[in-house]
Amino acid sequence: MSTATHDETIAAHVTGQSFRMLIGGEFVDAIDGARLEATDPSTGQRLTDVPLGTGQDVARAVAAAQEAKAGWQALGLAGRSACFAHFRDLVNENRERLAMLDAIDCGNPISAMRTDIDICNAYLDGWPALAQGLTGDVIPASPGNLHYTAHSPYGVVGRITAFNHPVMFAITRPLPSLITGNTLVMKPSDETSLSTLALAELFHEAFPPGVVNIVTGNAATGDALVVDPQVKRLAFTGSVGTGLVIQRRAAESGYVKHLSLELGGKNAMIVFPDVDLDLAVEGAIYGMNLDVCQGQSCGSNSRILVHGKVYDEFVSRLAARLDEYRVGVAYDEATDVGPVVSRAHLDRVSGFVESGVAEGATLVRGGSRPAGLPPGGHFIEPALFADVALDMRIGREEIFGPVMSVFRWDDYDTMLAEANGLDLGLTASVWTNDLAIAHKTADALEAGYVWINDSTRHYFGTPFGGMKNSALGREESKDELLSYLEQKVVHTRLGDPRAALDRILG
Ligand code: NAD
Repeated sequence: MSTATHDETIAAHVTGQSFRMLIGGEFVDAIDGARLEATDPSTGQRLTDVPLGTGQDVARAVAAAQEAKAGWQALGLAGRSACFAHFRDLVNENRERLAMLDAIDCGNPISAMRTDIDICNAYLDGWPALAQGLTGDVIPASPGNLHYTAHSPYGVVGRITAFNHPVMFAITRPLPSLITGNTLVMKPSDETSLSTLALAELFHEAFPPGVVNIVTGNAATGDALVVDPQVKRLAFTGSVGTGLVIQRRAAESGYVKHLSLELGGKNAMIVFPDVDLDLAVEGAIYGMNLDVCQGQSCGSNSRILVHGKVYDEFVSRLAARLDEYRVGVAYDEATDVGPVVSRAHLDRVSGFVESGVAEGATLVRGGSRPAGLPPGGHFIEPALFADVALDMRIGREEIFGPVMSVFRWDDYDTMLAEANGLDLGLTASVWTNDLAIAHKTADALEAGYVWINDSTRHYFGTPFGGMKNSALGREESKDELLSYLEQKVVHTRLGDPRAALDRILG
C-alpha cells in the first residue's frame, strides 16, 4: 500500500470525525475542554484528539448512570436482551469502520480486527442466554420454614479497559454487568480510545440514555472512577501494577468495593517430545497472538518450554515460520504483524531484546527494525530467543510484545518448577499426545486457563482468569454474571399450618 493510500484510509475514517464522550445520552467534550492526542502507531503521526475527562466528567457520568438505573432494571431481562440484539446488529453493520479504527489507532492488523468483531457475536448472544438460566436457591436450612436466595444488581459499575483489543473489550466486557441490570461508566485506554468513542454512537442508539456512559482519559480519569462513592463494583483489565494501585485506591476511598481484575501473564507453553512438531510450532505462533496484536496479549505464550529431544528442531522450525510473517502498516491488507502501540512501548520492548542478549540468551532472529516501513512507525521484527532461563528478564517479566523465549528442559519436575516459578499464572498450554501426561501436567500447572494441544482460544461460558497475581475473579462465564449481582437471603417463618387452618377455616 502506498503512502497516498494510507492517507486516504486516515481521511476516510478519522479526519473530520468528531470523537466525543457519551454521558447521559449526550455526546460531550470534557467540562474543562482538555484533550488527549491520538497517534497512529504505523506512522507515529498525530491522528486527532479526544476528550481528556476529569473527575468532574466522571462524576457527571456516574450521576447519569445512577439516574438511568431504575428504568434499566424495570425493563427486565427481556427488555434488556432486546437492546443487546439491536446493539449486535449495529456492531455488525459497523464492522469495517470499527475494525479500521482499531488498526489505525492501535496498530493491530486490519484482518485480525475484523475477526475481533466477529468474535463479539458469541458474547452478544451468549450473555442474554446465560442470564436466562440464572436462578436463586431454596435452601432446606430449617424444618418448617422457607429460605431462599435472590439477586440484585450493584447499581453503577465502573469498567476500565486495556489498550490491546480496544473495540472487542469495549463491546464484550460491559455486557455481563448490563444484562444483570447494572448501568455503566466505561473508560477505555488513553492510548486507543477512538473505536470506543465510535462505538458510543451504537450504544446510544441501542440502549436508553445513561445506561452506558463513556469517559475517555488517563490514569487520573480512571482513578476518579475507582474512588467514586457511588461505584460499588469495579472491573479492570490491565497491568498488575495498575491493578494493585486500584485495589489500594478503592480501599482508600473509604468504601468497600467489589473488584474484579484481569491482569498480566507470562504464560508457559510446554512441549513434550512425542508431539507433532509442526502443530506445536503453529500453536506457538498462534498462542503468541503474533498476527493479532503483535504479542501484546495477556494470554500470549511468551515462555516456551521445549524438551531437549526436540529442542533444536523446534527452534529452527519456529524461526523458519517466523521468517514468513510480514511486518507492516496495520491497515495494509497484506500485513501479518503491525507496529506496537506507542514509541514508549517500542523502546520498552527493544530494551527487553537488549537485556536478553546482555544476559546470555541466544537471539535466533528478529528484534530489530524492519526496513522499508514508515520511519515514525513503531515496528519491530518478531524476536525469537533460545537458551532462555528463568533468571533472565526476558524469561520472567511480561514484555507484552513480539518477543518469544524458548527454554530447554530435560527433567519433568524441574520443568514444572520453572513453569510455576513466577508470581503470574494466567494461562498455559500442554503439547503431547499422551492423555495421562497431558492431564497430570494441566493439573500441576498454576494457571487459571490451560489448553491441551491448543492455545489462546476462548470459549464463551468457560471461566477465564488467572491464579496468583494474574487475576481476581473470573470472566466470560456464569461466575462473572453472579459477580455483578449482590446476593440476599430471605427467610420466611411459616409457623404451624394447623393453627392457620383453624383460623381460616374455623
Ligand atoms: P495499564 O494498566 O497501563 O492500563 C489499563 C487501563 O488502566 C487504562 O485504561 C489506563 O488508562 C487505566 N489506568 C492507568 N492507571 C490507572 C489508575 N491509577 N487508576 C485507574 N485507571 C488507571 O495496562 P495496558 O498497558 O493498557 O494493558 C496491558 C496490560 O493489560 C498487560 O499487563 C496485559 O497482560 C493486561 N491485560 C490483561 C488481560 C486479561 O484479560 N487478563 C487482557 C488484556 C490486557
